[in-house]
Amino acid sequence: MPELPEVETVVRTLRKLVLNKKITKAKIVYPNLLKQPTDTQQFESEITGQKILAIERIAKHIIFVFQNKVLISHLRMEGKWFFEPEGAQTNIKHQEAYFIFDDGMQLAYYDTRKFGTLHWQDIDNFREQKPLVTLGPEPFSELVTPNYLAKRINKSSKHIKTILLDQTIISGIGNIYDDEILFAAKIHPLKLGADISQIDFENIIDSSRDILAKSVEMGGTTIDSYQSAHGIDGKFQNFLKVHTRVNKPCLECQTLITKIKVNGRGTYFCPQCQVL
Ligand SMILES: [Zn+2]
Repeated sequence: MPELPEVETVVRTLRKLVLNKKITKAKIVYPNLLKQPTDTQQFESEITGQKILAIERIAKHIIFVFQNKVLISHLRMEGKWFFEPEGAQTNIKHQEAYFIFDDGMQLAYYDTRKFGTLHWQDIDNFREQKPLVTLGPEPFSELVTPNYLAKRINKSSKHIKTILLDQTIISGIGNIYDDEILFAAKIHPLKLGADISQIDFENIIDSSRDILAKSVEMGGTTIDSYQSAHGIDGKFQNFLKVHTRVNKPCLECQTLITKIKVNGRGTYFCPQCQVL
């Protein structure tokens, strides 16, 4: 599943490919992709003739910016944007939408799992609407401070691993980086929110920023089936210290990395470096 660094990589790639291009035809092939409006014909006619003026990222959402509107794309598990010649069907079974430009190329959305979403909203108030309104600040935001985290977390009886996945507290952290952040911060994934100390909060913030920034620099992590637009592979998987490394020696202390399930999510940690 693409997380913040992978989505940032997709956004940077898309900017190089489709910025300032004008859409001459739009087609939603799989109507359930479009959550707002639900009338696909209305959407197709509104976006036709519009130019992509900017492409931004908010947490794990891709924001295509038009004159008065934004198109918000969430890739969820397996969504991918491909820039390809008009009429191409890189994977015909899974093509869910395409946007043809005036230069004979198209941007098409493919999703083998069909969980991805599109929202077409007014530029003036999209941050106050679902899906963005419930998002907490990103780790890079100055709003994320030890005091902020303490207020949100220190009465929680949930495990810290689960808490960091809660996009309403901090947005942009997914399963891979959660494990890496907790390893760097030397916190056991099953530690309860109520037991997290002020120093732990500082370490979580510092580790989140370091790890996500480094991953963005590397183009994200390529494991499972994640690929950014155009099949560009990230390289951060070579720098993962615990995630996917079950029964391999910890890079700090040589203890074997353990894998457990926390709230259904595969979770990797070092039982020596991350004591409960
Ligand atoms: Zn260790």
